This record gives sequence, structure tokens and C-alpha cells, in this order.
Amino acid sequence: MIYLDNAATTKPCKAAISKVTAVLEDNFGNPSSLHNLGLNAEKELNDARRIIAAALVADPECIYFTSGATEGNNLAINGIAESYGRRRKKIITTAIEHPSVSAPISRLEEIGFEVVRIKPDCNGEIEYDSIVSEIDEKTLMVSCMLVNNENGAILPIKRAFGLIKRKYPEIITHCDAVQAFMKIPFKASQLSADVITISSHKVYGPKGAGAVYINKGVRIAPQILGGGQEKGMRSGTECVPMIAGFAKAVEQQHQNVSERLNNAQQLKEYFLDVIDMLEGVTVLSHRDASPYIISLAVSGIKSEVMLHFLESKGIYVSSGSACSKGKKSEVLKAFNVNERLLDFVIRISFSDKTTTNDIDSLVEAIVEAQDTLQKVKY
Ligand code: PMP
Repeated sequence: MIYLDNAATTKPCKAAISKVTAVLEDNFGNPSSLHNLGLNAEKELNDARRIIAAALVADPECIYFTSGATEGNNLAINGIAESYGRRRKKIITTAIEHPSVSAPISRLEEIGFEVVRIKPDCNGEIEYDSIVSEIDEKTLMVSCMLVNNENGAILPIKRAFGLIKRKYPEIITHCDAVQAFMKIPFKASQLSADVITISSHKVYGPKGAGAVYINKGVRIAPQILGGGQEKGMRSGTECVPMIAGFAKAVEQQHQNVSERLNNAQQLKEYFLDVIDMLEGVTVLSHRDASPYIISLAVSGIKSEVMLHFLESKGIYVSSGSACSKGKKSEVLKAFNVNERLLDFVIRISFSDKTTTNDIDSLVEAIVEAQDTLQKVKY
């Protein structure tokens, strides 16, 4: 099997699996219980908090565990709006956000918030200026992802948020850093984000865990109320095994983010050099995008047809992420991808285990698909 759909999810690493199993078996207490078993579970949770905080170069006090980034993004957007949105009602975001950001923002729009969605320019780049020029005294929050999940585009968040927080400290900045965490080196403080969302299953951890970083002094209204876990920010008994597995996976990676990024960059260069020689293939990701995600279109072969052809060869890719149920990706449209290519997009995304042999097999299979499949006129 050649698994090239790591932006969708990663295979959990062995260390994470062992950790999850060990906690399930030996440390099953409820972290809120006052007896020893509870204290042990609480210790596990706090160890995990320290590890995630260290990876973000942040204070463990700023880390709140969630069930994943969808919950984290909903908590951030709705929690910020509820806490700060009484007088200031303008939300600045981009047209290329993940649905877990864009959907709660659209809901806020329906109930009276003003939303500005910044589009990439004709080169497919979100410009720093286009973010900051929208700021005014009505602005409540700015929510932008760091790395796009469909084509790997890296947004100029550090610069834009840096300026925003310097000039308008009252504006709350949120960053969905799911596709950047453990892939592109960054520190929480460098991003100038008040709130950062991350997810476990994109970084070789188990599904069902994630975290939000909330800077000190930022008030987020909790969205799940109950027993007051996570300092009241996210009630519900913590999923200690998955959180511990998440932290274990992060612990394995966080010392070598740059080295792994370098490897991924070399793989991407290798892939681009080979793919460049093929007729009818258009690479939709920029050279300077995150090397972990490459979006491309093979003219005449519909995404799902290509996906299943590759699957029959044991190669797993994605049909362009938001292209679900045959719908064209609005995000890629916003990136100015030629309408005629949208039906033919596939996304490949690398892991630390991807090799040049995997890429050779993928390219061979694409060539075979071009030779054997009936092409749609485009
Ligand atoms: N944001 C981005 C950029 C993502 O790629 C994803 C996962 N596709 C999410 C948020 C949602 O993460 P989760 O699966 O942990 O809910």
C-alpha cells in the first residue's frame, strides 16, 4: 500500500498506539476523581499538556484539549463571537478556510455579523495587504489558516497577525494551524495568534483528540457546558488515552520538524521534476507551498475515476478534498484554478514515510491511467 492521503489523516505511529493501549489498560481513572486512579489520570493529562505546550513553545496553562480541530475551530469562532461580539461585529477571514472555520462564520453572518472573505490574488496568493487593509474599528476577529489543506498554500499569518496585534490589540486573532503543526516550524508567540487550533490525527496521533491554544487574558466563552473540565473551557470527561497518544506522537516529532520539512521538500522537488515531463498534468500547488500537500489535475480523467484507478494499484490519494459528492471545490475556485480543471483534481499528501519509490509508482500509475482510461473531453 502506498498511502498518499496524509492531509486527510495519518497512520498513527507505533509509539502513539502503544501509549493509547497502555493508558486504556493501566490508567483508566477519571482525571476528576480524587483517589489515586484519578490523580494518575490527571497526571497523564498534564504530562500531555506539557508536551503539546512545548511543541508550540507555549505555557501549558494555555492548552485546552478538545475532540479534534473541528471542535477547536467551532469553540474559537463561536467563543470569540460570544465574548467580544456585542459591539464589534466584523469578522475577517479568507475564502479558502476549512469548513470547520467557514461554517461557524457563515452561521454568525446569518445572525447579523459582517463577514469579509479575502480571496487569493491572480497568482493564487492571499496577500498580507489584503488582510490588514480590511481592519477597522468594527473588527472583532481575524481568522486565517496557516497552511491550506487543499493545495498547501502558506498564508502570511505571522506578518499580518503581527501587525494587527501591534496596532489593534483588541482584535482577536485565530489561526487554524492543523496542516502546519509539526510540519512547518512555528512558535505560538511568533504567529501572534490569540487562539490556535491543532489536531492529533494529522500528526500520527489517534483520531478524537486535538487542542486549542488560548493566549492568557483572552476570554473565550465555552461552548460545551457541564462538569467544568479543562478549567471550564470544555466540559466532559477528558479522553485521556487519545490525548496521551496525541502527545506521544508529538513528542516523537517536535525535535525534528525542520529536518522532516527538508525531506518533504526534496520529495516534492523530485515529484515536480518527474511530473513536469508528463503531458496533460497541471500542478496546482505553488513551488513555495507546504511540500506535504500537492494538488494537481490530470486533464480528461475525472477525480473519482483517477482515485479509484490508483486505489486499484494500492495507491491512496484524495479527490481534491472538498470535491466531495462530485461537487467542485469552492476553495480551489477561489484560488483561481481554471474551471475546466476542477473536475480533474487529485491531492497527494506525503508522510514522513513517503519515499521516492512511492512517487515513482504514483507517476507510473498516472501514466498508465492516461494510456488506458477513456478521457472526458474538456
Ligand atoms: N482544519 C483543517 C485545515 C483541516 O485540514 C482539518 C481536517 N481535514 C480540520 C480543520 C478538521 O480537523 P479534525 O478532523 O481534527 O476535526
